[in-house]
Amino acid sequence: MNYQAILDEIYDEVQPELHKGKVADYIPALAEVGKGQFAMTVTLDNGQVFSVGDSGKQFSIQSISKVFTFTLALDVYSRELYKRVGVEPSGNPFNSLVQLEYENGIPRNPFINAGAIAITDALISYYRDEYMTLEVIMNFVREISNNPKLSFDPLVANSEMEHGDRNLALARLMKSFGNFENDVLGTVFTYFKHCSITMNTEELSRAMLFLAFGGTDPVSQKQFITPSQTKRINAVMLTCGHYDASGEFAYHVGLPAKSGVGGGIAAIVPGKMSIAVWSPALNRYGNSHAGTLALEKFTTKTGLSIF
Ligand code: GLN
Repeated sequence: MNYQAILDEIYDEVQPELHKGKVADYIPALAEVGKGQFAMTVTLDNGQVFSVGDSGKQFSIQSISKVFTFTLALDVYSRELYKRVGVEPSGNPFNSLVQLEYENGIPRNPFINAGAIAITDALISYYRDEYMTLEVIMNFVREISNNPKLSFDPLVANSEMEHGDRNLALARLMKSFGNFENDVLGTVFTYFKHCSITMNTEELSRAMLFLAFGGTDPVSQKQFITPSQTKRINAVMLTCGHYDASGEFAYHVGLPAKSGVGGGIAAIVPGKMSIAVWSPALNRYGNSHAGTLALEKFTTKTGLSIF
């Protein structure tokens, strides 16, 4: 299949859509990112890369980092993790407090904010402190992407912390139910730091490749997790990766994928490839408008989906 030609076609077709939606202005540092930008990259098992648009431009991966922290936590806690976080779609916005209250402080899944904060807390308990935990997360992300230079943007992390009342409220609510083990401020700040990891679509698609191949990076042949763990992570991406638009995303795109309010979406086609797309303007669910559309076009044009 001529992936480059398909990406070029998609690039042309999404142009009229790039200004629809709005950037994540609740994080002031992200409000400055200009609309109108678009990038998409496909990475195959042999490491071959096809890109279109601003694929060298770094963006804030935000909630896509939750895939990496969930992977680490599942690996160290296994089934024990389900005592603290479920694996059920929430049907609610990513930062909602309501459900957490009536479900006694146990977040529905690892990809809504409460769930990801609980996961960060669990990792801090396991790795003893915030600094070590951030180091473990960063090293893992560098390893899976085969890129020792990846880092996070402290300006974005600080901006999130300054305006982090809702996430702090989620953490405090969990603490009030006994589902929190470490310092609330330090844990939430660690969560913001991993959300502030910056990557371009080439780096992000490379980082996700192991999830398309049963937990083993097909290029380096390094095994990071087992096929069974990979199956679970991909299942949660499919059912919860786009918050209260996860059903719609599965319906239109048909791939396990995770979005972030930085405008990125990372998707995998099991056994074939990983795909990263970025366009900063978001739909009302907080998912990239043009990015979602581009992935829908990709699976329609190629016939690649898990269904
Ligand atoms: N860091 C963001 C937040 O906590 C992540 C949200 C997202 O990408 N959906 O609000």
